[in-house]
Amino acid sequence: MLAAPAWAVDMSGVDAADKERIRAIVKEVLREYAASLGDRQADPAAKEVLRNIVRDNRNFMRKNGPDHFAPFVDGQHPRATVITCSDSRVHMQALDATPDGDLFVIRNIGNQIATAEGSVEYGVHHLHTPLLLIVGHSACGAIKAAAGDYGQESGPIRNELDTIQIPKGDPGMSSIALNVNNQVRRAMAKWEEEVIVGKLTVVGAVYDFRNDLKRGQGKLVIINVNGETDPAKIAALDLVQGLDGPDGKARKPATHH
Ligand SMILES: [Zn+2]
Repeated sequence: MLAAPAWAVDMSGVDAADKERIRAIVKEVLREYAASLGDRQADPAAKEVLRNIVRDNRNFMRKNGPDHFAPFVDGQHPRATVITCSDSRVHMQALDATPDGDLFVIRNIGNQIATAEGSVEYGVHHLHTPLLLIVGHSACGAIKAAAGDYGQESGPIRNELDTIQIPKGDPGMSSIALNVNNQVRRAMAKWEEEVIVGKLTVVGAVYDFRNDLKRGQGKLVIINVNGETDPAKIAALDLVQGLDGPDGKARKPATHH
């Protein structure tokens, strides 16, 4: 990280256009300097992590031959558009044993539509996924931040927290669920017609890796179906019938791979 440059000059007498030009020149000089460093300044941890990533990718390539890629080399036909949080503890293998080619995933802090609306639209409108799944999660840092005072955060971070509409002071599960429900409401308003004719089903869920909801650690708890949030009414829906069967396994619809 670069600290405030010690050589910063007093620009109080310079007009705005000149200031902007000077800033652009300084940025360019810094960019060239950073590029000239190569990896001399790199944290050793970065090397270790990159090594791991390259090795894991090599193993992935060895394990997966052309058969693995054949179903989607010429195009994608995902079954669902998924909006989830960027949190490192939330990953697709918790929801899909074979996510490749299967899930069109949008990730951002707080699993929001507002901060990635075009990406969500792409999944729903261009890829025509019949399911839009919005996944919040236990212990969400974005919810915690949005429930508190985040005035000291940078502009870009503040922008992505401003769109999380929850009450101040409650960073817990009720706010996590409220945020998911807000996203479902937004999606319903956006794709009302598609939902009404049955082309799109919007589902809100919480991935509970801490077992805060006491439904089992790691459970994807469905809390909203097309705006319905009453657990009894959700449980009665044909859509969720048999999902919590005695074998604990959901029946997977026919897939294309
Ligand atoms: Zn989160």
